[in-house]
Amino acid sequence: MILKDTFKHKGLRNKLALEVKRKGVLDFKVLKAIECIPRHLFMDSSFIDHAYQDKAFPIGAGQTISQPYTVAFQSELLKVKKGDKILEIGTGSGYQTAVLCELGAIVYSVERQKELFKKTTLFLPKIGCYPKKLIFGDGYQGYENEAPYDSIIVTAGAPFIPKMLLSQLKINGKLVIPLGIETQTMTLIIKISEKKYKKVEFGDFQFVPLLKEKN
Ligand code: SAH
Repeated sequence: MILKDTFKHKGLRNKLALEVKRKGVLDFKVLKAIECIPRHLFMDSSFIDHAYQDKAFPIGAGQTISQPYTVAFQSELLKVKKGDKILEIGTGSGYQTAVLCELGAIVYSVERQKELFKKTTLFLPKIGCYPKKLIFGDGYQGYENEAPYDSIIVTAGAPFIPKMLLSQLKINGKLVIPLGIETQTMTLIIKISEKKYKKVEFGDFQFVPLLKEKN
């Protein structure tokens, strides 16, 4: 694969960032990250011409690269500060991972699909993106070894809130998780104390399902 990023791509990205802004994401740093990350390089060649449409696309193994608006919306909810330790569930293409890295986060990301895990592990360094660790595992378990986290972001539709994710959050930590089966309600959970959580719900989104165990 030739990793080419041209002025034309950059122009298309500026437009994409404007579209995401028009849809309601106002966080300047998040919009800047959308302008920076060469999304076309995360996609299979057959979809490259569509890379800067605000849509999800297949990335192989029956999975998708999330819609840019969705990635921006979830990233905005996290209110990322430089140096935040963030756990992502569902690495997929690595696009959301790259946005979080661009925002200055220290990123751990878990993927259950072996082929995608391998592909993305090889790909991200090629575009100069270095998450702290990519993990092949089951996101329902989180990643205990590095807990607790400032934030956890789930990028697949979860039928319920996995307990392990709550326990791996710092106090005042945030979990952003799309909850539901057919469609998902974007949900922000803030850990107020060891036993107390605050829940805020946002609009409906469409994700591929968070599946059980590894594959
Ligand atoms: N963040 C990705 C979105 C990919 S779609 C991107 O920007 O491209 C969701 C991903 O979650 C898929 O790659 C899927 O394989 C993965 N997934 C589903 N269930 C999982 C689980 N239990 N643990 C870890 N990853 C999971």
